[in-house]
Amino acid sequence: MITIIGILICLVILLVIAVGMTVTRNHEKKEYNNGICPKCGGNLRYFDSDSQGGRGYNCDKCNNFVWVSYNVDKPRKEE
Ligand SMILES: [Zn+2]
Repeated sequence: MITIIGILICLVILLVIAVGMTVTRNHEKKEYNNGICPKCGGNLRYFDSDSQGGRGYNCDKCNNFVWVSYNVDKPRKEE
């Protein structure tokens, strides 16, 4: 019985992680908004990456900052 409970606990933990990742990804997708600033409708410009592989974007109109770690942006490297 202990094994079954252990497996169930593992499954629940995996499910929580999977749901958390989906929620975070959807949030980032909404924030990035296909490169359109969600606040003012300006263009989000790539400016830097962090050591974890996250990409930073800032708006050219209102300086709104967006950081994404999931693949919600197109893999482009603008200078
Ligand atoms: Zn903006």
